[in-house]
Amino acid sequence: MAEHKIINSFVGLTFEYNYRVGEALDKYLDGLQGKKILGVTCPECERVLVPPRSMCGKCNTKTKKWVTLKPVGTLKNFTVSHVEIEQGEIKDREKPVIIGQIKLEGADSLLTAKIEGISPKEVKTGLKVKAVFRDATEGTLQDLDHFEPVK
Ligand SMILES: [Zn+2]
Repeated sequence: MAEHKIINSFVGLTFEYNYRVGEALDKYLDGLQGKKILGVTCPECERVLVPPRSMCGKCNTKTKKWVTLKPVGTLKNFTVSHVEIEQGEIKDREKPVIIGQIKLEGADSLLTAKIEGISPKEVKTGLKVKAVFRDATEGTLQDLDHFEPVK
């Protein structure tokens, strides 16, 4: 049987797109600009969803009643990322980044954000964390920069 050569090819991919954020996320972004984390309540199951959604996925009901959540919560899950994707290319990070899922006090869903101020070796679920906003907010998801341990 003939031996086949293996060819490695690399194609860098870039995805750039715009989309309308919709009513719920629009209001959430306005909240972030004012350094507040807003959630919305489902009138049927009474769950507080953050980031807010216009419909409750469990009840298929339009959400109502906005609430301002305390910027503190508990780390429920996390992963440590050692790579990043830039222009479709996977690169090693200079230092690993912790990506966590946080259950804010009074919320019933999880918010995904970077966790800073603790090393990947020390981080653990159950950690109490608080939100840290950018100094100059712009009404984008990046306004909520990261969470860090409550001291
Ligand atoms: Zn519901």
